[in-house]
Amino acid sequence: MKLDWLIIGGGIHGVHIAARLLGDASVPTERLRIVDPGERLLAQWRNCTAAVGMTHLRSSSVHHLGLHHGALQRFAGKYKRRKPGLFAPPFQRPSLSLFNAHCDHVEQTYGLADLHIRNRAVKCSIRNDGVEVRLDDERELQARNLVLAIGASEQPRWPDWAPRSNPHVHHVFEPECDGWPSRPQTVMVVGGGISAAHVVLRLLKEGHQVHLVSRHGLRQHQFDSDPGWLGWKYKTIFSRQRDPEQRRTVVTEARNRGSVPPDVARSLRRAIARGKLQWHEGEVQELITRTDGIRARIDTDTVVPVDRVLLATGFASRRPGGAMVDELIDSASLPCACCGYPIVDSELRWHPRIYVSGPLAELELGPVSRNIAGARRAGDRIVDAIRPKSAVRT
Ligand SMILES: Cc1cc2nc3c(=O)[nH]c(=O)nc-3n(C[C@H](O)[C@H](O)[C@H](O)COP(=O)(O)OP(=O)(O)OC[C@H]3O[C@@H](n4cnc5c(N)ncnc54)[C@H](O)[C@@H]3O)c2cc1C
Repeated sequence: MKLDWLIIGGGIHGVHIAARLLGDASVPTERLRIVDPGERLLAQWRNCTAAVGMTHLRSSSVHHLGLHHGALQRFAGKYKRRKPGLFAPPFQRPSLSLFNAHCDHVEQTYGLADLHIRNRAVKCSIRNDGVEVRLDDERELQARNLVLAIGASEQPRWPDWAPRSNPHVHHVFEPECDGWPSRPQTVMVVGGGISAAHVVLRLLKEGHQVHLVSRHGLRQHQFDSDPGWLGWKYKTIFSRQRDPEQRRTVVTEARNRGSVPPDVARSLRRAIARGKLQWHEGEVQELITRTDGIRARIDTDTVVPVDRVLLATGFASRRPGGAMVDELIDSASLPCACCGYPIVDSELRWHPRIYVSGPLAELELGPVSRNIAGARRAGDRIVDAIRPKSAVRT
């Protein structure tokens, strides 16, 4: 059977877009599927957020996977009497458990678990009236429309000096990372952003000795890009800029990379002041493995003896999708900017049959594209693209 919609990627983006297509664009359930290798939808999101030990999201409560703006707040109303700490100031940031419970609610509302094909897409080919997608088990799916909602979470960034084969070195976003210390240890965390900060705070809470190595000093920003990017003004300026290389520059400059919000910065400063956290501003040059642990040589001429190293260095910046997307680009001559990312139209179409979301939509949606806000924006654009034009919301 040919589907109307096939979504590759069942993360934050794929799940929200599925809900929007079913709930807002009246796509029949039996005409849509989501392919994702995870044991359940949103598995990567759950693994990554659990690994760092964050209690609340960085984004506010209006950023969620439901259809309506206030859906998460309304959902929380049912729990308010039972659980304190559902939202953290400022900006009503939802707790991770509330956010995840609401994700479950969205999944259940639209029966998304039943639409999940647990597999990996390995090849996409454009046909006359749609797209054919081959799965890892050789099965083929056909759909009139394809959404590439492939995030970056499968490509954790490993610095050159960090050997993947060393049993004492782990990346916190590596799937099934088993690098968390089970007894009190001295741990070096590498990274300068919010994930590294959360990992440090979790380790300190559990009683470990912690060294943090960051290329830069503490950078404090409430959000990972200026909230102006959520409004119409920056959006309009961005869409007026037609040159994809200029857009890439804007995106790079707009992202507050390696930053932490004020409350997390306060906790780190407190830990430093109390001598619980050793902060090293520099870069690791080399790891020397000994029988009794590791010596990390930092370019500040310091050698730090530790039991293990946890990398919280985020995700590689290369275009996600690997060979499957490379081949698709070649076979269909899909346009890309110099940075390798798709050049798509304002409705997020890379091809009349192929839509993108997340990092792949960055040159159209701007700095918020990878975030939950970006998933919502992608949902708006895709739904507007397929709605009869007379019914488009103003
Ligand atoms: C720890 C952490 C905290 C964050 N907190 C916030 C926050 O508070 N607010 C906010 O707005 N953003 C936050 N983000 C950023 C962003 O919202 C998340 O990274 C989000 O999970 C991205 O969703 P995604 O769907 O684009 O990507 P992913 O989570 O990467 O999901 C994509 C899915 O596609 C699958 N996939 C890839 N290739 C294929 C293939 N060939 N076939 C089938 N499936 C495939 C992957 O396995 C994955 O399951 C956070 C990110 C992290 C890591």
